[in-house]
Amino acid sequence: MSILRRDLEFRSLKTTLALMENINPDTLPLVQVLPFFLLALLIYGLAEFAFVHYRLRRAKTGEYGMAVKGLGFTMLAGLGMGLLLGPVTKLLFAVWGASLSPFDAGLSPLGWIYGFFIYEMSYWLQHWLAHKVRLLWCLHSPHHAPRSMNIFVGFNHSFLETLLYMPFTLGFIPALLGVDPAIIAVLTFVDVVWGNILHVSDNVVSRRWSVLERFMQTPSYHRVHHAQNVRYMDTNYNSITLLGDWLMGTLQPLKEHEPVEFGITRPVNTSSFLDVHFGEFLLLWRDLKKADSLSQGFNYLFRPPGWTPQGEQQTASARKHRALNATQMTDA
Ligand SMILES: [Zn+2]
Ligand SMILES: [Zn+2]
Repeated sequence: MSILRRDLEFRSLKTTLALMENINPDTLPLVQVLPFFLLALLIYGLAEFAFVHYRLRRAKTGEYGMAVKGLGFTMLAGLGMGLLLGPVTKLLFAVWGASLSPFDAGLSPLGWIYGFFIYEMSYWLQHWLAHKVRLLWCLHSPHHAPRSMNIFVGFNHSFLETLLYMPFTLGFIPALLGVDPAIIAVLTFVDVVWGNILHVSDNVVSRRWSVLERFMQTPSYHRVHHAQNVRYMDTNYNSITLLGDWLMGTLQPLKEHEPVEFGITRPVNTSSFLDVHFGEFLLLWRDLKKADSLSQGFNYLFRPPGWTPQGEQQTASARKHRALNATQMTDA
């Protein structure tokens, strides 16, 4: 399968944008199917909302509204930047990366295995960085702000993350490492489909997905990822398989006796678009103004969220460490 002419020479993002005209829609069946999947997801999302809201009376309606505003803003920003939607942007970045890459792993079975491995590990790394580097957390935290889980949370991303950060880390970098853009396109499709299914409401699907839980990310794993429970923080970073989390030691299954408490640890007004999307930036800015040296400013920007120059650290790993010590003391 070939989705683009590799003989085309593209040396900058600007010229890469012109590639849209060179992609023959007939060779992009997955991109063509995507709008229908997204439409099906929207219809399911509305049905899920109706069930949770009218039948169970448990829907946090403000959070649904905020997710819709977030998606609308991403689409507007995408049009403004000429970058359209995330999956398309990622493909453009992949083509750009491939044009600069010194090698091409191709579409042989080995090329696919290599491509899958690089994509999954890139996904793990970009997501780990998004949780561990405060500046990147400012981009990623909108996705974690909701205090409930529903299918629309899957769309609730900062436009900077969807249109720039993810296309760069999951399109440009793998392609630069020689992964064929066609493989990136296929994995992006799987990612969009499966990654959104992971956000199905726990009010609708609560059971774990038995055999699948052994090798695939499932709604149960992803709910753990969205938890603010200390034990669950910063785990289950992948969106397709368990590969990266398994290799890097960040896999955390749901504990039956510890239900997920959704959301982030700061007080956030989850129906406010401004607070959800820019609240973390505001707090970072306040900390930067307090910084009394360049290195302190650097630490605020690039150390994990919760880092503080003095006093008790509030990072996820410090909290986990304290919780572990407390349990050991109770056990002793
Ligand atoms: Zn995350
Ligand atoms: Zn999620």
